[in-house]
Amino acid sequence: MASDRRDQAVHAAVAQGLLSEEQPVVALLDAGGIRASATALREAFAAVTDAPVLHAFAVKAAPLVPVLALLRAEGLGAEAASPGELALARAAGVPAAHTVLDSPAKTLGELREALALGVALNADNLQELARLDTLVPRQANDPGSPVPPIGLRINPQLGAGSIGALSTATATSKFGVGLRDEGARDRIAEAVLDRPWLTRLHTHTGSQGIPLPLMAQGVRAVWELAEEINAAAGRRRIDTLDIGGGLPVNFASDEHTPSFAAYARLLKEEAPGLFDGGYGLVTEFGRALLAKHGTILSRVEYAKTTGGRPIAVTHAGVQVATRTVYDPESWPLRIRAYDAEGRPKPGPAVEQDIAGPACFAGDLLAEARPLPLLEPGDVIAALDTGAYYFSSPYGYNSLPRPAVHGFTTASASAASAADGDGDGPVRFTTVRRAQRPDEIVAESGGAYAGALLR
Ligand SMILES: *Cc1c(COP(=O)(O)O)cnc(C)c1O
Repeated sequence: MASDRRDQAVHAAVAQGLLSEEQPVVALLDAGGIRASATALREAFAAVTDAPVLHAFAVKAAPLVPVLALLRAEGLGAEAASPGELALARAAGVPAAHTVLDSPAKTLGELREALALGVALNADNLQELARLDTLVPRQANDPGSPVPPIGLRINPQLGAGSIGALSTATATSKFGVGLRDEGARDRIAEAVLDRPWLTRLHTHTGSQGIPLPLMAQGVRAVWELAEEINAAAGRRRIDTLDIGGGLPVNFASDEHTPSFAAYARLLKEEAPGLFDGGYGLVTEFGRALLAKHGTILSRVEYAKTTGGRPIAVTHAGVQVATRTVYDPESWPLRIRAYDAEGRPKPGPAVEQDIAGPACFAGDLLAEARPLPLLEPGDVIAALDTGAYYFSSPYGYNSLPRPAVHGFTTASASAASAADGDGDGPVRFTTVRRAQRPDEIVAESGGAYAGALLR
């Protein structure tokens, strides 16, 4: 069970001194869990199609080179949305042929780099296609540098999910070419028919909070558009559909629902021709691959009561859980309480606030949360934080980026053979070390201390 592995890892992290006075907040990543999710994704699509599928992990969900390298070893590629993310994918050894570039605001330089590297790219809009018109034909004449696959992002304009900021398929979303706008279908078809190198359509209907049927309708709309364009061309001009990511994550329990398998089956019902082998497929899942495999741990520094409310003051706040702190309704996190040895803390549940270290009153991971009453030295864990949390830290108050430790546990049988109480040996490996004060100074203009005095 993933939750048993997590409890073992928390105890081992405390016992091995990873969480300490000096490092009062750290993050753990369950390497076995990540592998299992990658396998589940591959198998889900293999069960519904024989078509070639590239599963490109959305780098922004966990921009950590060792994570990208682990996923690469599991057969996944990378979806990058900025020059930095592309550099991370390359540092992890993800081959260009398994990389997709989706930056919404690609500069000419970025387009040139992607073309030169042979990285597939999805243009966001027709102006970007016009820019590519100045670059692609020249490269097409150079046999030494084949033009990579190029697609166009489509916004099916289906409406929003439950989180406005993450709904990318509304009528006025900033992404892609709106499919339902006046004359859009014709403009898109013309754009494709005019450009022999434009062979893909791309859509990503949003992240978290989008109901599965809405996601599937978005994919269906883009598949129908591809069919229409191919019929007009009299041949398969669009040969690959990139269906994006966005599978929501269950933050309320340890269950992995909805599953990749359920989504793949729903897509097959909604858009059967997508899977008949005629189209290559690209997926871009992020959150659903990583979220459940990450845990943020913090020591409880102080525990006080103000206005009758117990408050545990911890080191995990807005710098590691930015969305939860600013928008707790949309992004509630489960919190688990452990004692100072990292064992699950017993005791009656008492409503208490879990506060972070930042200097503003709203820096709370949880409010009025029933938990065993926390004391200084105890440990709290923020669960399901493997995607978009500690991996995307926020620089407020110059709080350092915490260390990230990957862990593996021996299998249950090996564990009970190795030691009597069923706690298998947990092995940690550094994924990212904690940021040091001198690095914060360097990032904050330390080399230019006198710059404003002159
Ligand atoms: C963010 C993003 C993804 C990944 O979304 P998840 O919800 O993490 O699966 C995929 N594709 C694009 C274009 C994105 O912007």
